[in-house]
Amino acid sequence: MELETQNSKLKTRYEAVIGLEVHAQLLTKSKIFCGCSTAFGAPPNSHTCPVCLGMPGALPVLNKRVVEFAIKSALALGCDIAPSSRFHRKNYFYPDMPKNYQISQYELPLAQRGTVAFPVGGVLTSIRIHRLHLEEDVGKLLHAGTLQVADSSLVDFNRSGVPLMEIVSEPDIRSPEQAGEYLRQLRAILVYLEVCDGNMDEGSLRCDANVSLRLTGREELGVKAEVKNMNSFKGVQKALAYEIQRQTRILEEGGRIVQETRLWDADQELTLPMRSKEHAHDYRYFLEPDLVPLVISSQWIDEIRATLPELPQQRRDRFAREYGIPDYDAAVLTVSRPLADYYEEVAQASHEPKLASNWVMVELLGLLNKDGRGIIDSPIPPAELTALLTLLLSGTISGKIAKTVFEQMYQTGKSAELIVKEQGLTQISNQDELLQIVEEVLAKHPGPVADYRKGKVQSLTFLVGMVMKSSRGKANPRVVGELLLTRLKGEEPGGDG
Ligand code: ADP
Ligand code: MG
Ligand code: ZN
Repeated sequence: MELETQNSKLKTRYEAVIGLEVHAQLLTKSKIFCGCSTAFGAPPNSHTCPVCLGMPGALPVLNKRVVEFAIKSALALGCDIAPSSRFHRKNYFYPDMPKNYQISQYELPLAQRGTVAFPVGGVLTSIRIHRLHLEEDVGKLLHAGTLQVADSSLVDFNRSGVPLMEIVSEPDIRSPEQAGEYLRQLRAILVYLEVCDGNMDEGSLRCDANVSLRLTGREELGVKAEVKNMNSFKGVQKALAYEIQRQTRILEEGGRIVQETRLWDADQELTLPMRSKEHAHDYRYFLEPDLVPLVISSQWIDEIRATLPELPQQRRDRFAREYGIPDYDAAVLTVSRPLADYYEEVAQASHEPKLASNWVMVELLGLLNKDGRGIIDSPIPPAELTALLTLLLSGTISGKIAKTVFEQMYQTGKSAELIVKEQGLTQISNQDELLQIVEEVLAKHPGPVADYRKGKVQSLTFLVGMVMKSSRGKANPRVVGELLLTRLKGEEPGGDG
């Protein structure tokens, strides 16, 4: 909180410039250059073969599905797809990669020049994509401390050769909030396309954030720091906010920013230096001689384009237009396909899209988020929520009762009708029955009654509340209000006419 306030003050002097590099793990069954499984959680080194273990003489063969997924993503991001691209060897010496090089794309990436557009605070923001390319993931090191054996490290190569797609943005992002929204939108697109599961805490979606400052109004870019190791959207935003503050302080004190890679420490909520920035020449890139150029025909691109689903942005616009819900609601409801499908079913079946949006967005997502569950695991199917809304719309139950019924549906899986019937929760709209309660409340609260008659209008709200309470939420508030008004006005002493 304090961080944000400070940042907004400093914004007048310095402008933040941010570019994100996102690695998305592609949802193929097998690895990018061999037939080994990509399944998560298998015993260490059980999903390996000579290719992904980097044995001498083993030859990589490109997985066609990986290319298809990358083309799909590139099309959804509006990128130009290269008719021919190449793979390079990125050389480095580290035990997570037995070949001592990672196969990646360098000079000729699969796709370039795209855009991601999304609203931030009511303003449509558009961030350019610089490039999209393919590469292989590396193994996973387990260091001493997490192991039984002191002073040692173990390596698991199950992840080595898992397909990754790297999406690099232009430095078009201007705030941590924009960075968060960009990531959310990008994630939504990949999840819609079913090319990535978008799971940040399991590492299926990883983000490195580059950030620099410059005096507001300047053209040229400042020296940047690259921050790694964030595993949530919040983490990315916090790391950027921290980094902006750190760099601002250095510049304000007349210091200089050094180009370096920093690690986000989520526990301490700060970034720590990791290494000085590596440069392309450090990697001695050269063409991968074991792979032929990747040639993509325009016919294949057209075939894939024909299979593209409605994308989050299109669906969001359609929801706002067709259902008349606010842009914000539409944005929340379209972050994933199952959620959008769920909402759409309730909106159509209930004929009350705005009410449906409130219930799905506030009530249902509220409970699901609290349990860390996704919409797919919702114990209330769309048809059951619709049935509850029908009871509410017909006046059978009050809004207040609807919420408790909803919570019970969520906990027990019972239908709304059954819960209402079992517990006798049907709304009381019968005038005679309500009048009796109204009279009791008026008799019990002479003070507020007198206040109302002296012109204190808020006393009516209090009295309605008392009637609702004594009916245990079952009274129809509209009828109660009408009855109270008649009684209060009816007995008004004449004279002030
Ligand atoms: P590097 O060679 O250091 O990886 P790149 O030019 O490939 O740098 O850019 C990596 C990412 O950093 C991109 O998302 C880019 O938009 C961003 N970036 C580049 N220069 C800056 C800068 N001065 N400030 C903030 N972000 C930057
Ligand atoms: Mg880079
Ligand atoms: Zn393998």
